[in-house]
Formats: sequence, C-alpha cells, structure tokens
Amino acid sequence: MPGYIIDLDGTLYAGTNPIPQAAPFIDSLRRAGSPYLFVTNNSSRTPDEVARHLREIAGIPAAAEDVLTSAQAAARYQADAAPGSRVYAIGEQGLRQALAKAGLHLVEGPDDKPDAVIQGIDRSFTYAKLFSASRAILGGAAFIATNSDLQLPTEQGLTPGSGSLSLAIRAASGVEPVWIGKPSPIIMNYAIERLGLPADEIWVVGDNLRTDIAGGIAAGCRTAWVLTGIAQDVDPEEQIRITSIKPELVLRHLLDWPA
Ligand SMILES: [Mg+2]
Repeated sequence: MPGYIIDLDGTLYAGTNPIPQAAPFIDSLRRAGSPYLFVTNNSSRTPDEVARHLREIAGIPAAAEDVLTSAQAAARYQADAAPGSRVYAIGEQGLRQALAKAGLHLVEGPDDKPDAVIQGIDRSFTYAKLFSASRAILGGAAFIATNSDLQLPTEQGLTPGSGSLSLAIRAASGVEPVWIGKPSPIIMNYAIERLGLPADEIWVVGDNLRTDIAGGIAAGCRTAWVLTGIAQDVDPEEQIRITSIKPELVLRHLLDWPA
C-alpha cells in the first residue's frame, strides 16, 4: 500500500475555492487504507487551522495530525540541533505556536542573544525586524527560513512570499539561510519518517514542479504532477523542458491516475 505526501493549495483547494476531485481522491485513499500526510510550505497557519481550512473549503475530513507545515519542520530542525534553545522568530501564529510546541524559547530580539533566527511569512514585516534579524545573525545566530517561495499566487495576483523576506535578511546579513520547506530534503525527510514507509513507496502529489515535484524526486519518492492550481493553464511539456524537472506522472486532476 503506497503512502502519499500531498500538497494543499493548488492541489486540494485553490485559495478559497474547492477543487472538485480532491475530496473523492482523499476518500479513496482512506477506503484503501493508504497512509497520507498533507504537507505545506505555508507557515502562517497552525496545523489545526490548516485542517479546518481543508474541512471547510475542500470538504476533506482532516485533523491536525494529518498536517505537516514548514513551521513545524523548522521548529523540529532547530529543536533537534539545539533543544530548548533561544530563537528570534519573524512570522505569524503558525510559526510561533510550532516553535513553542517544540520546546524552543522565543525571545524579543538580538539583545536576548538568540541561538537562531527562524523566519517565515510575516505580513507585518518591517525594517525594524530586518534590522533585528541581521544583527542577531551577524552576532552568531543561525538563520533558518521556512521556505524559499518568492511569490504567492492569490486573488490579488502574485504577492511576496516568505522567500522574498528571506532574501532581504540574506542581503542584510550576508548569510544564506537553511531552507526547510519543499523542495528541501529537510521537510521531505520528516514527512517520509511520519509515514513510516520507504521513500520509493511514497507518492508526492502537487501542482508545483519546482517545490513538490523537485522535492519528491530529490527525496527518492515517486511523483505525480497535477495540472490544477498554478499548473492549470500551463503547457506541461514546455514546463518540464524549461525546468528540467520530470515527474513520473502528469495528471489532469486528482482522479486521473492510470489504472
Ligand atoms: Mg501547491
């Protein structure tokens, strides 16, 4: 029985709109007894909020335990490296809750001598936060970024993603972050561990070639690129040629698996 690592936005729903094949696809996995995990680069929501969004938007009976966010993965990475360490966080509720749950100690800024700066999407990002982050990193703190997505597709068009903030901090500090989210092997390996299966018995399913599919290939998983979300209006062959990222399967939608 294969396992599944499944992307959220663009794969199971599109922003606040349902994707009609998503709920029947998840239902088929439940009936078959296939283990699955919803894995998202979005660090703003807590796992409970992600699960509620899945229930309300996509009609999928999800619980917090079914979710792995880049915030949880970043928190685990730092907690494994330095248990109970002091962290300066730039981010929203999903990141702050994940750090606290991992036993890390949130501090106010560089004067508190943090061991790490952990940064995710922060829609209240300011010069003062950039200043604090770069001072802490120049003072020796590690720099951990939840994900490298530069742009987020929204109803208002493309908006700045967490990675755009990371690159500001990188420029100001001169230090490259440890990237946690897809396509990083860090989050992929935590997801594989949670499923408890060998990587080659797990399908990574998502709408983004550069994050979902590249991350799945790098982790040794099987990959299915679904042409919804950001991939709904693209020429798949052209995208594969441009990116040199070749998924095992290209699906028109989540119920389009070969027999
Ligand atoms: Mg997606």
